[in-house]
Amino acid sequence: MKIKLLTLTAWTALTLMPVAIHAQYPGQIEEMTKVKVNVPLKALSFNYSDVRLLDGPFKRAMEVDQRWLKEADVNRFLHTFRVTAGLATGAQSLGGWESLDCEVRGHTTGHLLSALSIMYASTGDEQYRTKGAELVKGLAECQQTLGKSGYLSAFPEYFIDRAIKEEIVWAPFYTLHKVYAGLLDQYCLCGNQQAMDVLLGMCDWAYNKLKPLNEAQLQGMLNSEFGGMPETLYNVYAITGNPKHKELATLFYHNSILDPLAARKDSLAGIHVNTQVPKVIGEARGYELTGNSRSATIANFFWEAVVKDHTYVTGGNSDKEIFSKPGILSDQLSENTTETCNTYNMLKLTRHLFTWDALPTYADYYERALYNHILSSQNPETGGVTYYHTLHPGSCKKFHYPFRDNTCCVGTGYENHAKYGEAIYYKTADQNGLYINLFIASVLNWKEKELTIRQETKYPDEASTQIIIDSAPETGVQMPVMLRYPSWAIDGVTVKVNGKKQHVKKVPGSYIRINRNWSKGDVITMEMPMSLHIEYMPDTKEMGAILYGPIVLAAELGKTEDPAKNPEVPALIGDFKKIDRCIQPVDGKPLTFRTVGIGQPEDVILSPLFRNYGQHYTVYFKFTDKK
Ligand SMILES: [Zn+2]
Repeated sequence: MKIKLLTLTAWTALTLMPVAIHAQYPGQIEEMTKVKVNVPLKALSFNYSDVRLLDGPFKRAMEVDQRWLKEADVNRFLHTFRVTAGLATGAQSLGGWESLDCEVRGHTTGHLLSALSIMYASTGDEQYRTKGAELVKGLAECQQTLGKSGYLSAFPEYFIDRAIKEEIVWAPFYTLHKVYAGLLDQYCLCGNQQAMDVLLGMCDWAYNKLKPLNEAQLQGMLNSEFGGMPETLYNVYAITGNPKHKELATLFYHNSILDPLAARKDSLAGIHVNTQVPKVIGEARGYELTGNSRSATIANFFWEAVVKDHTYVTGGNSDKEIFSKPGILSDQLSENTTETCNTYNMLKLTRHLFTWDALPTYADYYERALYNHILSSQNPETGGVTYYHTLHPGSCKKFHYPFRDNTCCVGTGYENHAKYGEAIYYKTADQNGLYINLFIASVLNWKEKELTIRQETKYPDEASTQIIIDSAPETGVQMPVMLRYPSWAIDGVTVKVNGKKQHVKKVPGSYIRINRNWSKGDVITMEMPMSLHIEYMPDTKEMGAILYGPIVLAAELGKTEDPAKNPEVPALIGDFKKIDRCIQPVDGKPLTFRTVGIGQPEDVILSPLFRNYGQHYTVYFKFTDKK
């Protein structure tokens, strides 16, 4: 045993490289990739390490997430892997979906690898990289012990055989994908070479396992949920340039789901949402690396169909995890609406599409879903996260917890609250211009331009933001800055540069382009007054939700004593063309309103859904318009 351990130690020696980049979106990891993005682009992503959050709701949510990451015991997260490999483990088993008898055990370990990588890149705090490296080392030992094939999992390999034979088994490739993705993030964001070695072994195993299968066997296997396998395999291919990795990604092309989308046909009704979104993300990444325009059609059509016809006011989708009929949502409001993983994945897809076309529509959707679903999914006191972010009238948020529940949304939850810096800023594709998409207090360090740009804002409590050039080269930087003019800002915006008002010709849902030579100390201010508006259900004007700017308001319906017992939900009867008369602000409380004489049986207080926890609420009301 001693000799074996020594061998393992040598095999698992760490090579840490000074990189802090991510493998997923155009503009990132270019210097590490052999296969370059091969399609026309309008925008490029910054790296996580280029952006640091300043105080505000997102930084606070990130700090709550950090508590869980710090508390995570590496040995507990390796426990089921060690049991499967036959290695000694004295650790206490994790609960819920990570129990030893749960078939998807191991998925959370993959998410933790990703979250630790992202948190390290987003903060520079070494403790997250160190913990990630300990996990990788433990996983490498398990892989080595399991044999030479490269197989690594917290469940035995016969689960995969069951999926191939279309026997009953719970999503083994879905679970493995989290480990693949986590190892890739460890390599890309933390420079952990051992993670890449383990990952390449897993790729060899998968290739040898799946390559001999015929098309019918593969398509049968793909009926079992397989997460983002194709996306991660395309990302591996980008790094290695090995055609086997591209071929492996294409083996996960699922005909019955993707062919109709390529024909621009919405056949989504009745199918499981979170099984499908990652398949489309895989197509998006495949398009970027191969230039296959059919894959772009799939991604573009799917995004349009989902956002237009299957999405609630919060940016979330699904009832009981299923797509409804297109445009029919008013009778799809069970307790189990909008799984949080779905929106995690829709935001990933949105980030790809934004780099292709830089359309403000994508940024509008991103903002809507980020505030009203992702930020809203976290209990700011306990750090619990929602699985279903319920829109059932009168219900309340029910939170799942790390270490105890370990559901899929706990896994994506670790990542969600670590990566709020990722989509605030983009570069133009020629790297000579800046998009400002989100109004989140932060600092952007644009190394190539020697620019440090600080965004100071109390948004959304105050509907304004200030962009300050903290440092720039002596000669300044001539470039356009594209400020997002949100689609909800129907009362116009006021933009000033160094106090001088700019003439704004644009309309809501566009970018305001300011091209000048930027110097240290320059300041842009933008005021964008919010207004109240109702967004009706796509299938009826008798049901809708109330927003203030991009913020979804929820009626406060009383403290949660018994989560299973929902209170009565008032209907609203009034002349909603005069919305400012029947819904009025509460003095001294930002983003908080009261209905005035329209609530039946009584009026209610409305406040942001993202701040609502521990009480019952409704987002959707029955409206009767009394003209
Ligand atoms: Zn989930």
